[in-house]
Amino acid sequence: MKLISIIVPCYNEEEVLPLFYEEIQKVMEQMRAEHDDLTFELLFIDDGSRDKTLVLLREMALKDQRVRYISFSRNFGKEAGMYAGLENSRGDYVVVMDADLQHPPAFLPKMYNYVKDGEYDCATTRRVSREGESKIRSAFARLFYKIMNKISQTEIVDGAQDFRFMSRQMVNAILDMHEYNRFSKGIFSWVGFKTRYIEYENVERPAGTSSWSFWGLFRYSLEGIFAFSTAPLDIAAVLGFITIMIAFVLLVVFIVKAVVVQDADLRFLAALCIFCFLSGLQLFCTGLLGQYLSKTYLEVKRRPIYLMRENEEIYRERMGEGSEK
Ligand code: UDP
Ligand code: MG
Repeated sequence: MKLISIIVPCYNEEEVLPLFYEEIQKVMEQMRAEHDDLTFELLFIDDGSRDKTLVLLREMALKDQRVRYISFSRNFGKEAGMYAGLENSRGDYVVVMDADLQHPPAFLPKMYNYVKDGEYDCATTRRVSREGESKIRSAFARLFYKIMNKISQTEIVDGAQDFRFMSRQMVNAILDMHEYNRFSKGIFSWVGFKTRYIEYENVERPAGTSSWSFWGLFRYSLEGIFAFSTAPLDIAAVLGFITIMIAFVLLVVFIVKAVVVQDADLRFLAALCIFCFLSGLQLFCTGLLGQYLSKTYLEVKRRPIYLMRENEEIYRERMGEGSEK
C-alpha cells in the first residue's frame, strides 16, 4: 500500500473549506478507483485562524479517519504551516496545496502519474497567465523574478507555485533545510531533484479572500531575496571601490591643476578629493565585513552540503517493487 499525505495550510478558510473537502474527496475516490494500492491522509494546518476553520476541522476529523489536523497557537504564516505539514506527514508521497481551490484537486491524478514510477520526484503547476490579478501586481511580480534570477544562484521559476506532489525523498531533503526564514519557492528549487511542470491558467477563489496584501507580498519578495542571495551585501564594496576610483581621478586633476596649470586656489578640489577617498575607504571596508557576514550567514543556515537522489540501494528497491506487481 502507498500512502499519500495531502497537506493543506488554512488561515480563515471557513467559507471555502467545505467546498475543498468535497472536491478532494471526489479526487481521492477517483484515484483509488484507478490505483488499488493507494490510501490517503488529509493533514490540515490551522494557522491560528480567527473564524470557524478549527471547528470545521474538528468535525471533519471526527467523521473521517483520514483527516488529521494541527492547530497553531497563533498565526505563523503559510511557510510555517507547510513546514509543520511536511514534518508531520507520514506518506510515501506528499502533496502541498492551498485550501482555496486555486490549486485544483483535479490535477492530482495527473501529478501522481508523473511521480509514481520514480521518473520525476516532484510534479507541480506553473501559472502561465495572471488573469484576475491587478496589472501593477503582475508587473511587480515579473520584476521580482527578473531581479531574483539575476542575483541568486537558485533559479526561481516565474509562475511556479506551492502546489506540489512530491516523493518522500524530496520531502526529507526539504526537511533537511533547517533555516528559520523559509522561502519555499527557493527551497523547492534549491534541493534540486527532477521536477515536472504542468502549465495552467490562473483560477480564482470561489469564496473567501486572499490574505496577501500588496505590502505583504512586497515584504515576502524581499524575504526571498535575502534568503537566497547575498548580493545586497556586495553593494557597499562595489560603491566603495567606485568612490575610491573617483578620488584617484580627482587627485590626477589636482596634480595637473597644481603643477601644469598652476592654479592658485585648489582648496575645494583637495577637500573633495580627500572626502571621496575617506568615504570610499569606509564603504569599501564595510563591504569587506559584508563578505565575511555573507559567508557566516550561509554557514548559520546549515544547509546540506549535498543531497543524494539515487544509489544502488534505492535503485534495487525501486526495481524490486516494480517486479512484485
Ligand atoms: N495561509 C496560511 N497562513 C497565512 C496565510 C495564508 O496558512 O498566514 C494559507 C491559506 O489558507 C491558503 C494558502 O495559504 O490555503 C494561500 O493563501 P491565499 O489564498 O491567501 O494566497 P494567494 O492564493 O492569494 O497567494
Ligand atoms: Mg489563494
